[in-house]
Amino acid sequence: MSDVFADLVGQDEAVVELRRAAAAAAAVLRAGATDRASALVAAGPTDGARSASAGGTDPSAGMTHAWIFTGPPGSGRSVAARAFAAALQCVHGTGCGACPGCHTTMGGTHADVRMVVPEGLSIGVGEMRALVLRAASTPSGGRWQVVIIEDADRLTEAAGNALLKAIEEPPPRTVFLLCAPSTHPDDISVTIRSRCRVVPLRQPPATAVAEVLVRRDGIAPDVAQWAAAAAQGHVGRARRLARDPEARKRREAVLAVPRRLTGVGAAFDAASALIEAAEAEAEASVTEADTSERAALETALGAGGTGRGAAGAMRGAAGQLKELEKRQKSRATRAQRDALDRALVDLAGFYRDALTMALRAPVAPVHTDTAALAGAGAQKWDAEGSLRRLEAVLACRAAIEANVKPRIAVEAMMLALWKG
Ligand SMILES: [Zn+2]
Repeated sequence: MSDVFADLVGQDEAVVELRRAAAAAAAVLRAGATDRASALVAAGPTDGARSASAGGTDPSAGMTHAWIFTGPPGSGRSVAARAFAAALQCVHGTGCGACPGCHTTMGGTHADVRMVVPEGLSIGVGEMRALVLRAASTPSGGRWQVVIIEDADRLTEAAGNALLKAIEEPPPRTVFLLCAPSTHPDDISVTIRSRCRVVPLRQPPATAVAEVLVRRDGIAPDVAQWAAAAAQGHVGRARRLARDPEARKRREAVLAVPRRLTGVGAAFDAASALIEAAEAEAEASVTEADTSERAALETALGAGGTGRGAAGAMRGAAGQLKELEKRQKSRATRAQRDALDRALVDLAGFYRDALTMALRAPVAPVHTDTAALAGAGAQKWDAEGSLRRLEAVLACRAAIEANVKPRIAVEAMMLALWKG
C-alpha cells in the first residue's frame, strides 16, 4: 500500500519537509520529554529532542506546532494537511498508510484530528472558540491533537484572534494546520503568519496530474492528459472533467462564449447565460444537502408533535430552522461564486491561449480542444487585443472577489470582450 503522501501531486519539496517534521515529532514523543511544550516551541539548539531528531541544529528540520499550507486552488493544500496529520498520528511516525493511525486520519474518523471545513462565506468566532477549547485537551490516542483549518482565509477577524491566542500559547500536544491561498495579509493576518511555518505548494504540472488520474482513478491516459491540461493544475477539477459529462458540457458552454459575442445584445445574453449556468450548477450541488439537513433537524425537533410543551418546543425550533436557513443561504452563495469562478478560469485560459499564440510562445495550450478557435482569435486581435481580453476576465474575477455584484461584473466583462 502506498503511504499517506502518495496523493500529493507534484509537491516533492513539501513532502520531504513534512516527512522530516513527522520523524522529528515522533522523536519528541519517544524522548518523552517532561516539558513537551518547550520541545516543540523553542527553536534553540540546546533542545535535546530536536537536535537528536534533526541530527543537527537546523531548526527548520524539526517539528513545530503551527503550520500554513499555501498554494493555488486545487494544488492540494488540504490533501497535504491531512497527510501530515496522518503522519503525526501514524504509529510508525512515518505516515505508512496502513496502521490504524494513518487509516482513521485519512478516513476522517481519528478522534484527535479535527477538520474545519467552512460551508458559508466565513468561519465564525463561536466555532473557533469551541474548537480551540477542545484542541487543548489531552490527545486520547497518546500522540497529538491536530486541528486542520481549511480555507483559513475565510476566518472572521474575531475568529482569527481566537485562533491567534491558541497559537501564541499552544497546549503542549496540539498542532494547528492552516490552509490558505497565500500568506498575503488579505488571506492570513501578519501576526498568525509570524507564528507559523509556511509550506508553499506549487501548481502541479499537467503531466503529474495526468499520472495520478491514470494511477489512482483508472482514467485512460489520453483523457487524463486532456483533463489535466484543461484543469490548469487543479487536481480535483481534472478528475471531475475526466469523469463527469455534465462538467464537460458546462465547460464547453463557457468556451463557446468568445464565438457568441457578436454584438451588445449577444454580450448581455452571454452574461445571463454564464450567471444562470453558475446558479444551476451551485443549486445542483447544495439542494440535496439542504433537504436532508432540514429533514434531520425537523425530526430531531419532533416536528408535528401535539403533546404538552409542543408549542414551546416549536418556538425554539423556529429559531433553529432560521439559523439553518441562514447557514444554507451562505453556503449557496459560496457555491455560486465558486462555480462562476471556475467558469472564469476556463475563459481566462482561452484568452491566455490566444495571447501565447499571437506571441508565438512555445508553450502548450490550456484548452487543446479550442486551440483552433484561439488561433483564429490571435490573428484577429493580435497580442495586444488578446491581452486586453485576458485582463478583462481577470478584472471580473477580482471585482467579484471584492464583492461587486456578479451580474454587473460579468456584463462589464462581456462588453469588454466584445469591444476588445
Ligand atoms: Zn501509519
